Amino acid sequence: MSDERHQNLAVIGHVDHGKSTMVGRLLYETGSVPEHVIEQHKEEAEEKGKGGFEFAYVMDNLAEERERGVTIDIAHQEFSTDEYEFTIVDCPGHRDFVKNMITGASQADNAVLVVAADDGVAPQTREHVFLSRTLGIDELIVAVNKMDIVDYDESKYNQVVSDVKDLFGQVGFATEDASFIATSAFEGDNVADHSDNTPWYDGPTLLEALNDLPEPSPPTDTDLRLPIQDVYTISGIGTVPVGRIETGVMNTGDNVSFQPSDVGGEVKTIEMHHEEVPKAEPGDNVGFNVRGIGKDDIRRGDVCGPADDPPSVAETFTAQIVVMQHPSVITAGYTPVFHAHTAQVACTIESIDKKMDPSSGETQEENPDFIQSGDAAVVTVRPQKPLSIEPSSEIPELGSFAVRDMGQTIAAGKVLDVNE
Ligand code: GDP
Repeated sequence: MSDERHQNLAVIGHVDHGKSTMVGRLLYETGSVPEHVIEQHKEEAEEKGKGGFEFAYVMDNLAEERERGVTIDIAHQEFSTDEYEFTIVDCPGHRDFVKNMITGASQADNAVLVVAADDGVAPQTREHVFLSRTLGIDELIVAVNKMDIVDYDESKYNQVVSDVKDLFGQVGFATEDASFIATSAFEGDNVADHSDNTPWYDGPTLLEALNDLPEPSPPTDTDLRLPIQDVYTISGIGTVPVGRIETGVMNTGDNVSFQPSDVGGEVKTIEMHHEEVPKAEPGDNVGFNVRGIGKDDIRRGDVCGPADDPPSVAETFTAQIVVMQHPSVITAGYTPVFHAHTAQVACTIESIDKKMDPSSGETQEENPDFIQSGDAAVVTVRPQKPLSIEPSSEIPELGSFAVRDMGQTIAAGKVLDVNE
């Protein structure tokens, strides 16, 4: 299956609104229950002299995994529709969800927002919608779930749809791009098949809506960006930087530039899995050799890009950050270590420009004296050594970072603007 037919999907929403149950239902309806679950069930069924494979079994299994403290085990599951192969990349039950979303580790293209019909918009509904909006999720599919609990009542459904649309309006999501579906993950209504329980509902099923998502734009359309992980000297070849291509393609014969080291040359050879290749693409781990570049000319944290559109080097940059955990307060002048792609550079937070409500994105205060755990803010940052970084709106793969201090991740963010 080619890359562009693949979708990374996040399943978000307030706790207990039915995210795990919905993932279980999707896996079950698409026949994608993980092999180990089927094997285990077969053994148990044989012992008890029963056959068949039931949704209840999938849920028991997921519930068991959850008891071991791992909502995350429903992540990294896969299922397919006619159009796409979906990977569930992350779920908000996971402790690192916010960090993963910000740093792009989860790299979800689209998300299913689960909102329980009996409970409606709840605090984590707001928080996840705001994060999705700021962190680059393209489209949300809204499952108004647990319709069975509200007796498949149309007015209840309409009320939740209207509340979610209000929320989208507040954070700036285009509501016309969202689809709303009346579901019961538990009973299976409108997930794979149109349900007789909701005769008033004429929209798509969840699987149809997933199938109709627009294709994520392939990162090959963007310029080459290859953060360098290591630099080796290999006899017979010379200097070999290695790294993973984040965006764009690299061909032998291309003229490339390394930033911030500010050197460059022509790509002589590219090697992947110990074989020479003429060309490499996003996701490829490569070692390559550039004419005239010595081991001391470049280093880990450099980004390799085309010579005619080199990676940008930030004098300062503005960024949106979310403070996840900091024992006290963050004020202007604070200088923690920023981790962006393969670079680790001490950066000073020069000014805190504004503080926002993390659940709605509304500005709470201009130029606040400090920010603390739980706050979202726009800050201006000055790297203490040259750092190659890009606006996340242009190259999301190189536009996010984690902020670390005292051995832990204290904040994460994405770059809004780079002043070179
Ligand atoms: P999560 O925290 O969002 O992952 O929620 P879960 O999937 O764990 O669901 C929370 C509870 O709601 C569980 O007891 C589920 O069985 C129940 N539940 C989930 N979806 C539905 C539904 O569509 N209808 C009903 N009646 N219960 C549901």
